[in-house]
Amino acid sequence: MSKEIFLCAINNVLSGTCKEDCKFCTQSLRYHADIERYNYKAIDTIVHEAKQAKNHGALGYCLVTAGKGLDDKKVDFIARTAQAIKQEVEGLNLIACNGTATVEQLRFLKEHGIDSYNHNLETSQAYYSSICTTHPWEERYQTCLNVKTAGLQLCSGGIWGMGESIEDRQSLLDSIVSLQPESTPLNFFIPNPALPITQRNITREEALNVVREARKRLGEGRLLMVAGGRELIFGGHEREMFEAGVNSIVIGNYLTTSGDAPLKDQTMLEGLGYTIATRCHG
Ligand code: SF4
Repeated sequence: MSKEIFLCAINNVLSGTCKEDCKFCTQSLRYHADIERYNYKAIDTIVHEAKQAKNHGALGYCLVTAGKGLDDKKVDFIARTAQAIKQEVEGLNLIACNGTATVEQLRFLKEHGIDSYNHNLETSQAYYSSICTTHPWEERYQTCLNVKTAGLQLCSGGIWGMGESIEDRQSLLDSIVSLQPESTPLNFFIPNPALPITQRNITREEALNVVREARKRLGEGRLLMVAGGRELIFGGHEREMFEAGVNSIVIGNYLTTSGDAPLKDQTMLEGLGYTIATRCHG
């Protein structure tokens, strides 16, 4: 596989205000997790943070909002933010991650500078009702189809280690593969004492098998990213992770948890003999 690694950064532009009950998510208002909660960040601040991410080597920049899905206010905010970033920062692939979305809303975002949409299936169709009761898995899958219909690149993956079975993992991967996403983030559950799911049920060896299987099924041309939980699962074992098929990582912080400092990741990649990708393919 290529020795080029694609870096992506996340900006949580609206944090911790969600009424849904996803049992893995500290942004749900139901669990009172000790995280920072705020309304829309100032667009100037987001543009400044996007510049910093670009300087640290990020090619993908993801604008995330808490909440079940897009509404008129969010669509407008994300569109204005995307325009502002595109005007001031060259060469970033802009990703929106704003929950369930219609084709019309997604087309509007595309017209205003969004390149990709991230919507994860999270877990298998069968296990989904055990981790969320306020909206169905099918709605998530439909949003992914809407992304493709709107002509945006699709970024879709899930979270492993939330109590699911081996069969659930197989089924989740089947569903992801059926969507043929351009990019697939693999997240590994990060326990938090406030959440109903208290433990992560996946070992490093199992996680490596998830990576190998995902790479085999998705093919060589696509981005396979390890996002949340990377440091916990693969910290100090990054070479195995990349050799299993990962070619993309998230730098900086995640939505509500801290990641390794970007400089530390750059040093890690150089030490392993990888180069940081400077342009997106296609
Ligand atoms: S809908 Fe999204 S933000 Fe809301 S609780 Fe679920 S995962 Fe978290």
